[in-house]
Amino acid sequence: MKNITVIGAGTMGNGIAHIFVQSGFTVSLVDVSVVQLEKAVATISKNLDRQISKGIITEDQKQKAISNLTTYNDIIEGTKNAELVIEAATENIELKLKIFKQLDEAAPLNAILATNTSSISITKIASVTNRPEDVIGMHFMNPVPVMKLVEIINGYATKKEITETIVDLSKQLGKVPCVVNDYPGFIANRILMPMINEAVYSLYEGVANVEAIDTIMKLGMAHPMGPLQLADFIGLDVCLSILNVLHDGLGNPKYAPCPLLINMVTAGKLGVKSGEGFYTYASGSKELIVSERFK
Ligand code: NAD
Repeated sequence: MKNITVIGAGTMGNGIAHIFVQSGFTVSLVDVSVVQLEKAVATISKNLDRQISKGIITEDQKQKAISNLTTYNDIIEGTKNAELVIEAATENIELKLKIFKQLDEAAPLNAILATNTSSISITKIASVTNRPEDVIGMHFMNPVPVMKLVEIINGYATKKEITETIVDLSKQLGKVPCVVNDYPGFIANRILMPMINEAVYSLYEGVANVEAIDTIMKLGMAHPMGPLQLADFIGLDVCLSILNVLHDGLGNPKYAPCPLLINMVTAGKLGVKSGEGFYTYASGSKELIVSERFK
């Protein structure tokens, strides 16, 4: 396998393109936004520079990686030579179904169609194509060049050979693949999101304050970040939408999102990206400052 197409040049798409070009693959990066494509190329270049300064790669290797990357504003043009397509566009079911219908028509018949979705059913996405056996979940973690895990999700119809190819490919990229089946939240988010939700419930019920909850989980469980800080980093809107997927898909009240989380999202307090969540990020300081609301 040599030619990879990545759909979506946002946070995840540029990270996925980065690791593939660095490993010698030819990558076509596709986005509807030319501005996003330009930003993605600049981010990849900056991140490769960081690797040079850490002695991980040489300037020559950076130039070679950059020369493996081409950007496209058109999904058909960017997909026509793909052996593997990895879709990393915005997390919206209607959008993903539309993209997979286009991919089914545009990509060569032997191409594997993968999605980096965090929570949308692989089986559902596969069902809009004429090749559901060739559709698979390839869930990278953020930041992609740093995080080792790839959660590989078999849709209901995914062929064994496709899973084996994606497992081998993930290893070739220096990642650690783990194969799971297609049920709401897969494994990563099915376990992570209830923990985050429970942390929000603990705050909501006054069991402890923000600092205590995060410190207990950091020092007591050796987690690098407390669950409330992690929720801010992921985005509280993203956490809420994944909890809704778990709640709707599994029908168990234990996944019901905490009313405090719902309120915060409704009020536009989304964490790092909006400048405020459980902590405040407005000052730009590296020190963690608990939001006024929770002091
Ligand atoms: P993002 O908002 O940073 O980027 C999404 C990109 O998709 C944007 O550049 C947008 O212009 C582009 N896009 C929208 N419609 C398109 C179309 N029709 N064709 C091509 N490009 C299109 O989003 P992200 O955080 O990179 O997330 C992308 C996917 O990865 C989502 O499915 C998300 O659930 C998943 N994911 C995200 C994270 C994370 O931490 N951000 C982690 C794991 C998985």
